[in-house]
Amino acid sequence: MTQSSTRRPPVSRSGFDQVSVYDGDTGLCAIDLSDNTNLWGVPPSALRALERFSFADTRRYPPAYSAELKDSLARYTGVDPSMVVTGCGSDDVLDAAIRAFGNHQGTLTCCDPTFSMIPVLARINGVDVLSKPFDADGDIPVDEMLSARSDIIYVCSPNNPTGSSAAIERIRSIADQFDGLVIVDCAYAEYSCTSITPLVESCSNVLITRTMSKAFGLAGLRVGYGLGNPSIVCEVEKSRGPYKVNAFAGVAAIAAIENDLPWVEATVAEMLVNRSRLVSRLEKLGASPIRSDGNFILLPLSDAVEVSKRMFETGVAVRAFANLAGIGPALRITIGPWEMMDAFLTAFEKSVS
Ligand code: PMP
Repeated sequence: MTQSSTRRPPVSRSGFDQVSVYDGDTGLCAIDLSDNTNLWGVPPSALRALERFSFADTRRYPPAYSAELKDSLARYTGVDPSMVVTGCGSDDVLDAAIRAFGNHQGTLTCCDPTFSMIPVLARINGVDVLSKPFDADGDIPVDEMLSARSDIIYVCSPNNPTGSSAAIERIRSIADQFDGLVIVDCAYAEYSCTSITPLVESCSNVLITRTMSKAFGLAGLRVGYGLGNPSIVCEVEKSRGPYKVNAFAGVAAIAAIENDLPWVEATVAEMLVNRSRLVSRLEKLGASPIRSDGNFILLPLSDAVEVSKRMFETGVAVRAFANLAGIGPALRITIGPWEMMDAFLTAFEKSVS
């Protein structure tokens, strides 16, 4: 140990004391259904690209703003490459967008419950969060969200953790009446039947964020992206900074988009079958999962936290929420191959009191 200094450690910026470090690691568990990743694995071409990767090239920086990856993403999503911004996961794109468009001491309006990182990303960028309850039909409350007069409106569709989707007409209605940035987080887009992407062509204030962490099976490589008007993309890139997608991740992401779409589609199709099958099995047990458009389901359960702890001891990890707004305690379960769902059902039945 070096001799301790008499000087106190510096104090972080005001507001930082309200931010805690993300507690996302569930710990090692035989079957992990806690993080909504693709439980069918890594797509085959991406895996081959990783195996062939020339590590000697890591001496060099990767492309500053991932031009080649943007071209692939643009072809995949059907927009011009000037409308694509990439990032180290979509968290990075969300962070950069909030920093670029949230005024100092400004606000971001979102619904509650929604993606748990949003309040964190807002606060670390000096932006306050205003949360609104969902409408009785589970959709976003357009007038309520507009009346807050925020700098940014954030909509998550399908929404994590509920799985509910926002109607495209409601998102358009918000965008048409709002002067600030509308972020539509479509991390689970591949699982949902409705495509929101055309919105970015007609609404110049909409940024859609998407990711390679879910249906594309590359969460460990951290590749996310945003789609929006080139002027939004430019501001987000300034805020994000260069070199955020590393060389290894970039190569695998391009391979996956160019060659693995059939694999992605096949795993999405199997997920849809398993999701309905699991919902029926849970309903037969007397549980009431919420209707979901994502690769997960949310199950309201009074002793969710205790049940998740007992399940963890039997080797199955799920995400527990102690008290979600308007829902109460609940378990979120990622849908995977049926053997995993079977293991979930066995652990669940053993763990519920
Ligand atoms: N948005 C939503 C709704 C999510 O659920 C997640 C991850 N759980 C993310 C964004 C971030 O994903 P990533 O940074 O891996 O792209």
